[in-house]
Amino acid sequence: QEILVDVKNIKKYFPIKGGVLKRTIGHLKAVDDVSFTIRKGETLGIVGESGSGKSTLGRVILRLLEPTDGQVIFNDVDISYLSQRKIRPQREDMQIIFQDPFASLNSKMSVGQLVEEPLIVQGKMSKEERKKRVIEIIEKVGLRADDRQKYPHEFSGGQRQRISIARALVIHPKFVICDEPVSALDVSIQAQVLNLMKDLQDDLGLTYLFIAHDLSVVKHISDRVAVMYLGRFVEIAPKQALYTNALHPYTQALLSSIPVIDLNEESNHKQRKIALTGDLPSPANPPSGCTFRTRCPQAHDRCAIERPELIELETDHFVACHLYSEE
Ligand code: SF4
Ligand code: MG
Repeated sequence: QEILVDVKNIKKYFPIKGGVLKRTIGHLKAVDDVSFTIRKGETLGIVGESGSGKSTLGRVILRLLEPTDGQVIFNDVDISYLSQRKIRPQREDMQIIFQDPFASLNSKMSVGQLVEEPLIVQGKMSKEERKKRVIEIIEKVGLRADDRQKYPHEFSGGQRQRISIARALVIHPKFVICDEPVSALDVSIQAQVLNLMKDLQDDLGLTYLFIAHDLSVVKHISDRVAVMYLGRFVEIAPKQALYTNALHPYTQALLSSIPVIDLNEESNHKQRKIALTGDLPSPANPPSGCTFRTRCPQAHDRCAIERPELIELETDHFVACHLYSEE
């Protein structure tokens, strides 16, 4: 299968300033050496607690942020360090949908104006063509053509998320980063929006990177799922393998704390109850060795000394944990 997004050893460090001279005294390693690919038409879910670096990673892939090191190859073009001007042709193929649609939608613009804006920026269509396209996409996301006259505040949270989906898809992108798009919505509405996103994907041949903070949301929509902890992937696997045979103690803990909502059928695996204790350590001062060791029920001596690398244990199933690697 063709690869659309190829992320190679991406690092994103933010300087920490200190002292009277405000000199750089350290680095917050928000993303610390992450590699993966996304195939055309697939959905890769990325799950992590807030502070795990998942949103930063999304922004680096879209080149809203420049990486500190590593490469992002999008559609066979290395966009890692391109100028914003040179990146424009690729940018039109990538879009992002954010968590809080109300915050990300300008309340002074009507729905029609909001959805039309990316087309105006793109500058390829006449006014007539734009109007036709706006109506087409608004209907495609399940709103009505007359809704164009209304303002975002007149809509419910779920409908507002439909507006931001229309705005993201109006210019026919190939790749969409969904950054917690349903986290602010009621559970019943979440399922509707997720179903819509899945239908749109099938219909339009979209590729998704779907960011979430718990495993229940990405289960429905993902083909593969990556689990992120303090800037690194600790496990990545095809969905079925991850949900039935999680290998990393962190993934196992996340799975055992999945809330009741379950949108999928094939989920009657035995769950070991593992409580996740303690807070996420600061990414500015992560533990030595395995960064999960301060919360890991299976931590042993080696974990404090040596950082576990991601290794492929079964086909397409990677894990970074000393329980599975020889000393
Ligand atoms: Fe736990 Fe050690 Fe594995 Fe880290 S490497 S997850 S501390 S067992
Ligand atoms: Mg986030």
